[in-house]
Amino acid sequence: MGVGVVLAAAGSSQRMGGGKNKVLRLVEGRPIIAHSLEAFSTCSLVDQIVIVTRREDQGEMERLARECGAEVTVVEGGRERQESVYIGLQALRPEIEWVLIHDAARPFVSQEMIERAVQASRAHGAAAVGVPVTDTIKVVSEGIIQNTLDRSTLWAVQTPQAFARELILTAHERARAEGFIATDDCALVERLGHKVVMVEGDYRNIKITTAADLERVGGEVMIPLVGYGYDVHRLVAGRKLILAGVEIPYDLGLLGHSDADVAAHAVSDALLGAAALGDIGDLFPDTDPQYAGADSIALLREVVTLVKAHGLELANVDLTVAAQKPKLSPWKAQMRANLAQVLGLPESRVGVKFTTTEGLGFVGRGEGIAAQAVVSLIKI
Ligand code: MG
Repeated sequence: MGVGVVLAAAGSSQRMGGGKNKVLRLVEGRPIIAHSLEAFSTCSLVDQIVIVTRREDQGEMERLARECGAEVTVVEGGRERQESVYIGLQALRPEIEWVLIHDAARPFVSQEMIERAVQASRAHGAAAVGVPVTDTIKVVSEGIIQNTLDRSTLWAVQTPQAFARELILTAHERARAEGFIATDDCALVERLGHKVVMVEGDYRNIKITTAADLERVGGEVMIPLVGYGYDVHRLVAGRKLILAGVEIPYDLGLLGHSDADVAAHAVSDALLGAAALGDIGDLFPDTDPQYAGADSIALLREVVTLVKAHGLELANVDLTVAAQKPKLSPWKAQMRANLAQVLGLPESRVGVKFTTTEGLGFVGRGEGIAAQAVVSLIKI
């Protein structure tokens, strides 16, 4: 009487944000999915585990499975949770007769819960763990309460949910044929008219959906990495004035080994600073002839690629250019658009500001232009 587990881990994690699969975020120092992997793989009732996940996470899931010493099949999921579970069911070995379906985003599943679900499904064909709701539940339409449900009959359903293999397969196939989508697997069995038994879950068996959930369970919190960049170039005759990739008409231009785009340099250094990857002088030495006259926007693009390769994602950039002359405001929109494009950010995340220095200092005397930039990155 083999028992198989389908671990649903193919979600897009949109409500968590950050782009990373939420089940790979850390709780108590380990990825969320590692907790349920351990619970199922150490359960003597379980014979096979199938993880259904996004294609890009398959390698990481296989690595985690090896780490916990479990024999695990990893398959690529579908667009909806229901489709992913169906794909997972197909990957079960023929001798598997009972199936546990579990959301990998619930790390606090216990051995007792797994055993209760399996026992109840063996007795009745289908079972789910859940808890009585503690809040009073209202039906609301267009902001107005329509009625109050009788709380004594209401339960919040959790996972694992356990089924006879043939029953859950039939339920999924019927739902697919009829275009019915539900948020859990019980609902598919219920609509066949088959009884599903509710057994005791645990209020701690929460599903981690939002960053607030993650914080509540003491999980990894996304702390932005902040970087700062500062650059100055001298204004001389016979050079182009290029700022954030925009060629600005002026009788002087910035002197440097590259195109001397002081704005692009400050943003590049801010990115490298946030990622602790050195500075642009390390990456593109001014002694290297290949960077003579280099397009600094192209260099910035390389910096962005490097930072992203370190698992970092840009959150925002704020640039200030200090120049006494020329008047830069007519070029602001184009500078902002250029930076947004190369950084892969919406313009709403790119600040571009200008200041004079009231005639003071080297900027005020028109001898040079300075730029400062602050960026924030998020580890994904
Ligand atoms: Mg420079």
